[in-house]
Amino acid sequence: MNPHPSDESCPRCGSAAALAPKLLLIDEAWVATPGKDPRMAYAADLRVDDVLPSHLREAPLQQFVEGCYCRNCGTGFVSEQALTAERRRYK
Ligand SMILES: [Zn+2]
Repeated sequence: MNPHPSDESCPRCGSAAALAPKLLLIDEAWVATPGKDPRMAYAADLRVDDVLPSHLREAPLQQFVEGCYCRNCGTGFVSEQALTAERRRYK
Protein backbone atom coordinates (compact mmCIF):
# COMPACT_ATOMS: atom_id res chain seq x y z
CA MET A 1 0.00 0.00 0.00
CA ASN A 2 1.25 3.45 -0.87
CA PRO A 3 1.48 5.94 1.97
CA HIS A 4 -0.71 8.96 1.56
CA PRO A 5 1.13 11.91 0.09
CA SER A 6 1.58 14.71 2.57
CA ASP A 7 0.18 17.26 0.14
CA GLU A 8 -3.26 15.67 0.26
CA SER A 9 -6.04 18.06 1.25
CA CYS A 10 -9.75 17.76 1.97
CA PRO A 11 -11.93 18.20 -1.15
CA ARG A 12 -14.62 19.89 0.94
CA CYS A 13 -12.86 22.31 3.28
CA GLY A 14 -9.35 22.26 1.86
CA SER A 15 -7.74 21.41 5.19
CA ALA A 16 -4.62 19.29 5.09
CA ALA A 17 -3.90 19.35 8.82
CA ALA A 18 -6.91 17.39 10.04
CA LEU A 19 -6.61 14.37 7.78
CA ALA A 20 -6.30 10.82 9.03
CA PRO A 21 -5.98 7.58 7.04
CA LYS A 22 -9.26 5.70 6.95
CA LEU A 23 -10.54 2.52 5.40
CA LEU A 24 -13.60 3.48 3.38
CA LEU A 25 -16.49 1.29 2.27
CA ILE A 26 -17.57 2.23 -1.25
CA ASP A 27 -20.36 1.02 -3.51
CA GLU A 28 -20.28 -2.01 -5.77
CA ALA A 29 -19.17 -1.65 -9.35
CA TRP A 30 -21.82 -0.24 -11.67
CA VAL A 31 -23.50 -2.84 -13.87
CA ALA A 32 -25.48 -1.45 -16.78
CA THR A 33 -28.78 -3.20 -17.38
CA PRO A 34 -31.56 -2.40 -19.86
CA GLY A 35 -33.99 0.13 -18.44
CA LYS A 36 -31.52 1.36 -15.84
CA ASP A 37 -30.73 5.06 -16.17
CA PRO A 38 -26.98 5.30 -16.94
CA ARG A 39 -26.82 8.60 -15.09
CA MET A 40 -27.47 6.64 -11.92
CA ALA A 41 -23.91 5.39 -12.20
CA TYR A 42 -22.82 8.74 -10.83
CA ALA A 43 -25.42 8.97 -8.09
CA ALA A 44 -23.31 7.01 -5.64
CA ASP A 45 -20.43 8.70 -3.86
CA LEU A 46 -17.91 6.26 -5.23
CA ARG A 47 -18.01 2.85 -6.86
CA VAL A 48 -15.44 0.09 -7.10
CA ASP A 49 -15.01 0.70 -10.82
CA ASP A 50 -14.22 4.38 -10.18
CA VAL A 51 -11.04 3.35 -8.41
CA LEU A 52 -7.92 2.32 -10.29
CA PRO A 53 -7.33 -1.45 -10.12
CA SER A 54 -3.91 -0.85 -8.55
CA HIS A 55 -5.66 0.72 -5.55
CA LEU A 56 -8.21 -2.07 -5.07
CA ARG A 57 -7.94 -4.99 -2.67
CA GLU A 58 -8.32 -8.63 -3.59
CA ALA A 59 -11.86 -10.01 -3.92
CA PRO A 60 -14.10 -10.01 -1.95
CA LEU A 61 -12.64 -6.88 -0.34
CA GLN A 62 -12.73 -4.55 -3.34
CA GLN A 63 -15.26 -2.32 -1.62
CA PHE A 64 -12.75 -1.42 1.08
CA VAL A 65 -10.33 1.22 -0.13
CA GLU A 66 -7.62 3.19 1.62
CA GLY A 67 -8.85 6.72 1.94
CA CYS A 68 -8.64 9.75 4.16
CA TYR A 69 -10.94 11.18 6.75
CA CYS A 70 -11.09 14.90 7.50
CA ARG A 71 -11.63 15.52 11.20
CA ASN A 72 -12.30 19.16 10.43
CA CYS A 73 -15.53 18.68 8.44
CA GLY A 74 -16.20 14.96 8.78
CA THR A 75 -15.62 14.08 5.13
CA GLY A 76 -14.24 10.73 4.04
CA PHE A 77 -12.63 10.68 0.61
CA VAL A 78 -10.33 8.75 -1.68
CA SER A 79 -7.28 10.42 -3.16
CA GLU A 80 -7.73 11.75 -6.69
CA GLN A 81 -4.69 9.73 -7.67
CA ALA A 82 -6.58 6.52 -6.94
CA LEU A 83 -9.55 7.39 -9.16
CA THR A 84 -10.07 6.75 -12.85
CA ALA A 85 -9.77 9.75 -15.15
CA GLU A 86 -13.45 9.48 -16.00
CA ARG A 87 -14.50 9.66 -12.37
CA ARG A 88 -12.34 12.74 -11.76
CA ARG A 89 -14.12 14.47 -14.60
CA TYR A 90 -17.57 13.75 -13.17
CA LYS A 91 -16.68 14.73 -9.66
ZN1 LIG B 1 -12.53 18.81 5.45
